[in-house]
Amino acid sequence: MDHFLYRDGRLFAEDVAIAEIAAEVGTPFYVYSTATLTRHFQLFDEALEGTEHLVCYAMKAASNQAILRTLAELGAGMDVVSGGEYARAIAAGVPGERIVFSGVGKTVSEIEQALTGGIRQFNVESEPEMQAISAVATRLGVTAPITIRVNPDVDAKTHAKIATGKSENKFGIPIARAREVYALAASLPGLEVIGIDVHIGSQLTQLEPFEQAYRKVAELTEVLRADGHDIRRLDLGGGLGIPYTRGNEAPPLPMDYGAMVKRVLGHLGCEIEIEPGRLIVGNAGLLVSAVIYVKSGEGRDFLILDAAMNDLIRPAMYEAHHDIIPVNEPAPGVEQQPYDIVGPVCESGDTFAKQRAMPPLTDGDLVAFRSAGAYGAVMSSEYNTRPLIPEVLVKGDQFAVIRARPSYEDIINRDSIPEWL
Ligand SMILES: *Cc1c(COP(=O)(O)O)cnc(C)c1O
Repeated sequence: MDHFLYRDGRLFAEDVAIAEIAAEVGTPFYVYSTATLTRHFQLFDEALEGTEHLVCYAMKAASNQAILRTLAELGAGMDVVSGGEYARAIAAGVPGERIVFSGVGKTVSEIEQALTGGIRQFNVESEPEMQAISAVATRLGVTAPITIRVNPDVDAKTHAKIATGKSENKFGIPIARAREVYALAASLPGLEVIGIDVHIGSQLTQLEPFEQAYRKVAELTEVLRADGHDIRRLDLGGGLGIPYTRGNEAPPLPMDYGAMVKRVLGHLGCEIEIEPGRLIVGNAGLLVSAVIYVKSGEGRDFLILDAAMNDLIRPAMYEAHHDIIPVNEPAPGVEQQPYDIVGPVCESGDTFAKQRAMPPLTDGDLVAFRSAGAYGAVMSSEYNTRPLIPEVLVKGDQFAVIRARPSYEDIINRDSIPEWL
């Protein structure tokens, strides 16, 4: 559930009318609901109640400082995948001991940054990376806590571009090689092996793939303990999916996920860490856009919006579906008609939806893309020199711009002209 509902025919974010925000900041923009963010974080936290645990928000899903601060104040840890994200976590007030560093390509300078600023653990994805962390830690005279990400070779049954737990993916080390790699870790200076990490993909809509992976992790925990490793923390990754289409069958709830985790792993007595991204922020955000033109084509009508693929790339990149709703609620019984909903960018891929049934719309009407909070703003670009769109955070009857729209001058001044020109 979220906090974007119609009231008297107008779409609201909590207690603020979307049209009011649009009038103030202009379109297009992203808007997030504090109440929804809070609720989703707490659902995970409660789902793991009774077990020592930390919910580390995977900030790559949406990394605005105000979103991070909102979650940090609730007690969230953060899962980061770059030095930039690490710096964002620190700037949002997250202490190093609540920051987990993931990703296959951590550089020496990123490792150094995290070891200097404080880190809960590195989730190590390869032997060369392990050696690099060992070398940096030794040079700095510190000990780096690590887990090793294992690839359990399970089918996450999700879109190929966001599946990560099959043996052909670049992520983690094959679980069959785990004993050997853990033995290497134990032999290297500057490392403390504390646990196991796994993350099998994103937008999973069933619990079985998670359960398959976690059963393998449970077995591995026993094997590694017998080998003498003190496995005390299990990082289970993120990946729980969200409903993108209203009315369709919903993915499993955090509560059911948590119950499964406790059932499969509870006997091991490990601290549990999870790294949800999409489920926390996905349905906490809308992309709001205005219709520029309604264009009649050959046998079809196009809704040309002022948002484009550079603002929300998921439909172009993952064939993703977003429900698109009018900001003014259509009168009951209004006949819908099919539109191709597109942006102004000069690519045919700049199509949000084909033949989507919508109430009749006209120039200037506002529409909202639902479930746009995750992998929306963070994946946006300024392609076609379209300024990055503003982000707005609502809390109750208040709203604030949490990232302003840059001016053309701001954008142009980021370039510089060499002396010889
Ligand atoms: C992307 C990612 C996540 C978050 O995935 P969601 O599907 O957004 O929950 C968590 N952990 C790792 C290592 C990731 O790469």
